Amino acid sequence: MGFYLVREFSTLSKNEEMVERVFSTQLESILYSINQYSENVVQQWSQSLDHPVDPQGELMQGLMENLFAKNEALKAVRFSDLNVQEEQAIYFNDSAFVVDVWPEQPELDRLQGYLEANYQRVQVQAFEERLLLYFLPKNRDGQQLCQLVVEPQAFIQQNLSPMIQQVAHDIFYITIADSVSNQVLFTTGEDSGLAQTSARAAMWYLPGHQLGIRLKSQTLEELASERTQRDNYMLMGVGLLVVLGFIFVVINVRKEIKLAEIKSEFVSNVSHEIRTPLALISMYAETLLLKRVKTEEKQAEYLQTIHEESARLTGIVNRILNFSRIERNRIKYHFDRIDLQQALPEIVADFNAHLSAAHVECQCEPGEPEAWVMADWESLKTVVGNLLDNAMKYSDKPEKRVRVRILKKAKHVWIEVEDNGIGISAKHQKYVFDQFYRVTEGDLAHRAKGSGLGLNLVKRIMKAHGGTVSVRSKLGEGSTFSLKFPRKEKE
Ligand code: ADP
Repeated sequence: MGFYLVREFSTLSKNEEMVERVFSTQLESILYSINQYSENVVQQWSQSLDHPVDPQGELMQGLMENLFAKNEALKAVRFSDLNVQEEQAIYFNDSAFVVDVWPEQPELDRLQGYLEANYQRVQVQAFEERLLLYFLPKNRDGQQLCQLVVEPQAFIQQNLSPMIQQVAHDIFYITIADSVSNQVLFTTGEDSGLAQTSARAAMWYLPGHQLGIRLKSQTLEELASERTQRDNYMLMGVGLLVVLGFIFVVINVRKEIKLAEIKSEFVSNVSHEIRTPLALISMYAETLLLKRVKTEEKQAEYLQTIHEESARLTGIVNRILNFSRIERNRIKYHFDRIDLQQALPEIVADFNAHLSAAHVECQCEPGEPEAWVMADWESLKTVVGNLLDNAMKYSDKPEKRVRVRILKKAKHVWIEVEDNGIGISAKHQKYVFDQFYRVTEGDLAHRAKGSGLGLNLVKRIMKAHGGTVSVRSKLGEGSTFSLKFPRKEKE
């Protein structure tokens, strides 16, 4: 792919060159056609003057009147006899002036040579501010010289301009300017001279002047480089997309692998957690069935264990069911206005038997009165229960302590569950609320049974309550989990 992109980039500049070449060839041929047109005009003049009539006769006079009337650019026409090098007749369009220019002999010889080859050529030479066109009429066998004095401005405006305007249309600017001084004689657009034009050509019948052409909107280079730039951006975009796509695939594959690992760990954790109570229940039930237990006290003790272990099993199954219900958004919350100040001691009391069986000293600190929140009672029990359960599970201190307290601020109410357990290192703290996440470092964390669902369940429930859960913890010293609820007024 990289190779392909590099290759594409290098061919782009070649393409740009080629497009530019094609464009400028086209522009050059437009300029050529304008010159060609000017030649047609001049040839029409020469043909209309090429007659075997008396240069001073009436016929010629009528012909001249006609020609002058149609062509303002023509200022004078002079006929001369080449043999004696003498003027035969001169005609003026409006005012008379002196025409005293004679072409160089080699030039005349050349024209005669052309004429012998049956080709009539019209030559041009500068004449003061005007042009002097001259040719040898065919009908006089090259013995006569015909000179035409032409006004360049009028020639362009009258004879060439309609055709140039037509060619320029809405697409091009065409300019005629002095090739040295760059003084503009004619333009179809704004007076920007030749410098801006994309192609230029000398004017055949206007010595010292050039024709220039450019696109109205942009120059060729701009057009071609804009195209190339657009192509460059597109290629870069494609390249970027490919790279992003690759990164995306890698991230997804890694996520999938991680998820597969987590799921298989979850299955083994849950099986492990379920196996212990199941083994105890089946062992005690079997002993009782075989009537091996002699005293009633022992019997009651065994039954009590079966009862407790099945309650534990129910707890595990409920947690998994709860989790899957929450995950599929199947859970229905029944929000009531609850005063945590009153509710919390009640919830904690439900866990007292558990806590004291695990030799955990639990303190529920009375906070400020009236900490009203909107909460679902069962979910409240689940979140607090999960935190208390973890506080019991993740502690190896000889004196295990749990403190539960309520903090009330203007807009929020917090329940804090603080333990003096093993704590959680900073690098794990941000992940403990992810589903299936378990800390496996340290002996106890590794041994303790669990599924990695508890804190994720707490997080989801708190979200549904418009609140959050967070943790502050120090490895080896203990953890404080905080449940943050939006505070409500009493009524
Ligand atoms: P588990 O079923 O593993 O207890 P949880 O989602 O409840 O799953 O907890 C995720 C992980 O966070 C646990 O595996 C444990 O390592 C860590 N943890 C949770 N609560 C505590 C706590 N009070 N003290 C230390 N570690 C804790």
